[in-house]
Amino acid sequence: MALEIKAPRGTNDVLPADSYKWQIVEDAARRVSDRFGYREIRFPTFESTELFERGVGDTTDVVQKEMYTFKDKGDRSITLRPEGTASAVRVCLEHGLFGGLMPLKAYYVISAFRYEKPQAGRFREFHQFGAELYGTSSPQADREVIELAASFLKELGLGEISLNINSIGCPECRKNYHAALKEYFASHAEDLCETCKGRLDRNPMRILDCKSPVCKGIAADAPLILDYLCDDCNAHFETLKASLTDAGISFNVDPHIVRGLDYYTRTVFEFTDPASGLALAGGGRYDGLVSELDPKMKVCGLGFAAGLERLVGVMEDRGLFPELPRKGAYIAAMGQKAVPAANKLATALRALGCRAETDLMERSLKAQMKYADKTNARFVVVIGDNEVESGKITVKDMAGGDPIETTLAEAAAIMADRM
Ligand code: AMP
Repeated sequence: MALEIKAPRGTNDVLPADSYKWQIVEDAARRVSDRFGYREIRFPTFESTELFERGVGDTTDVVQKEMYTFKDKGDRSITLRPEGTASAVRVCLEHGLFGGLMPLKAYYVISAFRYEKPQAGRFREFHQFGAELYGTSSPQADREVIELAASFLKELGLGEISLNINSIGCPECRKNYHAALKEYFASHAEDLCETCKGRLDRNPMRILDCKSPVCKGIAADAPLILDYLCDDCNAHFETLKASLTDAGISFNVDPHIVRGLDYYTRTVFEFTDPASGLALAGGGRYDGLVSELDPKMKVCGLGFAAGLERLVGVMEDRGLFPELPRKGAYIAAMGQKAVPAANKLATALRALGCRAETDLMERSLKAQMKYADKTNARFVVVIGDNEVESGKITVKDMAGGDPIETTLAEAAAIMADRM
């Protein structure tokens, strides 16, 4: 009977023929992070639910509607991480990293889980490359994090990605702003969705980020935070803009960006693909998050996360993945006597760091050659009784180079030299 079980809705399989695309994106993430001095951090796929309730914010869509939360067999409430920032802060607190060298710079490549309605570019399991920077309130830190994200996109060949930035101020400027928002939304209260009605008193800024079309329509005319910034937040935003301009990074100020997570203060930003309208990366400053999780600690933080499925999708649409060049060697064996010699040559090639394959299907020579071609082998060697006896072989270059006459003993080094 055929397997009836399918992958869960909103998840993706990456097949062997496509995994190189993911590796290109992930390798770029690691390379660019290293250039800015960020080192990798790894943490569990699941955490205590409370970490995200407190760290992401219990009035956010992510926490209110989208978390994969369950009781484990020990009756603990566990949640599959919906993002990386809260976990990264938890790691730094738990291991005392905020007491060490500052600024502290870390990056991660993770899976994340949100129970969202699957659609183009939106999945229930997705992957993020994220970077976090702790311990500095300087606007130069905001510029660096944005520059890191922009360099990553550039490294992938993704030009023409729009960068939108905004400042959502600090708790001080938000006092007046919240009051203005409350007044505005109260006059539309009966039309808001049920979740937003509940947000009206507790966190009216969240309504600006609601995905419901009616709430979106109402939010379009709401007061703008930029009109309520205090002097310090204003100065921070002005310096950031000047510094981005100095760095040659173009941006638009979009006063409507608030971002879906509660912890942001001051700078927020989003990189968007103009063709599809999809957000490819987003982030901002979150000076209040660390003390939210540990009131004794006052540590500024900021960071961003980029969605890898969306990046791979946009790169496919734009034809940015290169054709894979021919690589490695296929050592065909004709007859039982040739098998040990073929295996030996393959082993020698692998010891030199090269890809080498031999027949595992007991196929005819013609079928072996077809396999070699389909797997994109660069060199092909055919070993039969004559080759075993004389020790002499011919290396065929599938990339169009001249055949090379050599010996079984020297073939590995000769091929390795050319790969
Ligand atoms: P966020 O953590 O919400 O700031 O998201 C950061 C980035 O992750 C977004 O810009 C998207 O590229 C990606 N992302 C967020 N949610 C999803 C999702 N459900 N499916 C795919 N990618 C996502």
